[in-house]
Amino acid sequence: MPEAARPVVTHRIPASADFVADCARRIVEACRGQLPDLSPLLIVLPSPALAPTLRQALAAAAGCTVLLPRIATLAQLAAAANVDGQPDSQRQLTLYRLLRERGWFADSALWEICAELIALFDELNERALGLPEDEETLLSRLEQAYDARGSQLLRFEAEVVFRLWRAEASGPPGRHAAMAMALAAMAGEAAAPLFMLCEGELRPVEAAFCEAWATRQAVTVFQPQRDTAEAPVMRALNFVWPPGTGAPLPLASRADAARAALAESPLKGRLRLIGASGLEAEAAAVAAEVRRWLAAGRTAIALVAADRVAARRARALLERDGILVQDETGWKLSTTRAAALVDAWLEVVAADAYHRDLLDLVKSPFLFGDLAEEMRQAGLVQLEDGLARHNLAYGLGRYETVLARENGYADAVGVLKRVAEARRSMPRGSASVADWLAGLERALDTLGALPGLAGDEAGATLLELLRLRREELVAVPARLTFSEWREWLNRELENAAFVDRSIDSPLVMTHLAATRLRCFDAAVLIGADRDNLAPALSRAVFSNQAVRSDLGLSLPAEAAARLRDDLAGLIASCDEVTATWQTMRGDEANLLCPELSLLSVLHACAWGDDLAAKPGLAPAVEAMAGRGTAMPRPAAPQRVPLRLSASAYASLMACPYQFFARRMLGLAEAEEVREALEKRDYGEFVHRILLRFHAVRPQLSGQPDEMLATELETISREVFAPEIEDNFLEHAWLARWLECVPGYIAWQKSREAAGWRYAGGELVRERSLPVAEGEAVLHGRLDRLDRRADGGEAVLDYKTQDAQGLKRRLADPGEDVQLACYVLLQGERVEEAGYVALEGTKPVELSLPEVQEMARAQGVRLAAAIDALRAGAALPAHGVDAACAWCEMRGLCRRDYHEELPS
Ligand code: SF4
Repeated sequence: MPEAARPVVTHRIPASADFVADCARRIVEACRGQLPDLSPLLIVLPSPALAPTLRQALAAAAGCTVLLPRIATLAQLAAAANVDGQPDSQRQLTLYRLLRERGWFADSALWEICAELIALFDELNERALGLPEDEETLLSRLEQAYDARGSQLLRFEAEVVFRLWRAEASGPPGRHAAMAMALAAMAGEAAAPLFMLCEGELRPVEAAFCEAWATRQAVTVFQPQRDTAEAPVMRALNFVWPPGTGAPLPLASRADAARAALAESPLKGRLRLIGASGLEAEAAAVAAEVRRWLAAGRTAIALVAADRVAARRARALLERDGILVQDETGWKLSTTRAAALVDAWLEVVAADAYHRDLLDLVKSPFLFGDLAEEMRQAGLVQLEDGLARHNLAYGLGRYETVLARENGYADAVGVLKRVAEARRSMPRGSASVADWLAGLERALDTLGALPGLAGDEAGATLLELLRLRREELVAVPARLTFSEWREWLNRELENAAFVDRSIDSPLVMTHLAATRLRCFDAAVLIGADRDNLAPALSRAVFSNQAVRSDLGLSLPAEAAARLRDDLAGLIASCDEVTATWQTMRGDEANLLCPELSLLSVLHACAWGDDLAAKPGLAPAVEAMAGRGTAMPRPAAPQRVPLRLSASAYASLMACPYQFFARRMLGLAEAEEVREALEKRDYGEFVHRILLRFHAVRPQLSGQPDEMLATELETISREVFAPEIEDNFLEHAWLARWLECVPGYIAWQKSREAAGWRYAGGELVRERSLPVAEGEAVLHGRLDRLDRRADGGEAVLDYKTQDAQGLKRRLADPGEDVQLACYVLLQGERVEEAGYVALEGTKPVELSLPEVQEMARAQGVRLAAAIDALRAGAALPAHGVDAACAWCEMRGLCRRDYHEELPS
């Protein structure tokens, strides 16, 4: 039988680190007669993270073993009552369908608008507000608030919000309504006193629950209050951020008052503000603070991540030293490998298996879990090779047709067949979300990815999310196109978090709101700048303050006050707090957030110290500061090849480490599909054209120039034709070459007049060289060989680059090894060797002097180098700038971080 409602008793307790313990003492005191059995009581907390602290505090206050009461948040109570309400995913799709039907906005903006409207409706529900009964009343209130009459924009905003709000309100109850109903039902059966700990003023849902409970049982509410705090730290902070809504005194007056009230600063030694020069410096400063605290015996440490990027970097530094961090906030699911697999698959579907997407997909560790590892690798290697070799950029069907024609691609064809089958299991055209999700699951199954995903923590979270959404949306018939559904899915993955629960550490990464009422030994606030540590932004819908105030929605001032309370709570409940931020972002200054700037200034005025501190450096960081990494100097005598090409030798001379990485470790870049002609392709085409031309026209003298030019042009067009068919823009490269044609014919004729005759092109040559272990072999391919009637020979190398660069290259002929190697390979009849620069309208010849002497010197040098390397000589990364500029090993040798410069 319900009793008459009794008043809800509210205790406003001074905000301090002991708030939870204080509440526990008061609860035990109130229920002392029931000890040791407190199990009938219900204690409601604002956050589940406070439960362990409260349990300990209750036991300590009781001074004996107690049967603990039920401790839960309101959300947990509602969930336990099994009343879920309409899922947000259904609300979102309903709103999306309505917005799409009405055609009010561009399609690309619809999901974002849905999110905004749901946030607005949630706030209206949470605050137990509603909108006016009719659209005209809402419009007139908006006009009044904006002080604008007859605005079409306002009318539009009112119409959109009102109609969608009515549509939603007429549907099944949402999350908040369901929660309110469940809590009301629970309160209707209240059989024991209720105690509620709050973070601040009661929220409407909390107030309603307390009032309903109070009709049957006693209700006691505990609220922290800053303005009655006695602790010196909170008193000092109250001078900085005066509680309440009244206009604060001027800063100088507050500083005077603070000094008068507290002779010594209670913040000195407790709060440090560290401005770091950049991301790495900030992460290093955070890691150094944590190490310092750990060394001092502190155990409960919070990393409060206002800037997630810097926080993650700091975490990586700590984990490198074996200091693990328990991440309460988690990772966005979209950043996991599992989500990357889904993304790669959807890219393959969207863009007809664009080769890069296809390779990304096939490289996923989750794929083809049913195949042996060697088969997976063989399929991948063959696919990479086949696509590059045939320059296949798009088209799943085309890939399969081309590779199936050739030997050696059986595994790649198997991969392509499975991908094609998976593609067939996805819906075509438009489908309901549930059907799209079912198709995705079938495709992942066909690709052999499900077992791998299920065995991975993030993968399992992703599968669970997909399953849950499919169940929630199975009865929602709205059909989405592929791109609409994909955007929906991307947002789902972006909004879902993956929390790694395998780590249990006293070092916790969390966010500022989650520190409310909690106690830590120390905390570091990462990213305390004005962008990252700013009050929550007001929403895009109804952003005008007067409108928000009129409708009873939250105001920016509330968010600012909440931020100050949170900062004050954090500083007061930790023995030490360090706030870090980056003083520069790119070229721009990055300022400390206004709240902490204010604190710093007031502290300086009151106690002569702005609390700024220098970043500490951990020993490892100190040792490395300003130095860089050592230049790598590997030695691998057993891997030094005895057979090498002229270009490998050139690489060895340019930089021994580059030779080591490319030729000894086999890390040379794999050939890739080229979607547009590059300079090197152009060079290859020119070589091919001239080879074909001279095969039919070894001698030009006596033939009319026009006829020769026409022949050369015809061959040129034939060679370029397949590329132009694929990409019309390649015409530019052809035109560039055709400009050279008349000049080339004139140059060839002038060589013939000097007695030289074309004697062959693309000639493969090799030569043995004596070395300590027997012989080494140098091999290479000569672009072109000319011969005179007396047997004298000339080695020519075509270059599609300008003559000036080649001239510089030959300025130190001892360092340019290519021509000398060709001379060595061709033999002693060579009298001339040179580059032919095919750029502009006239070829330019650049000759190597003293060709035979150069060739002999390079032969001796190469043999000596091989002997030294096979005896254990090191291969330092000391390429000169010209070599490093185009070197793909730059990331490997870390040339930009060497402590010594190349000499
Ligand atoms: S980047 Fe320079 S130093 Fe590094 S491997 Fe390449 S050439 Fe050598």
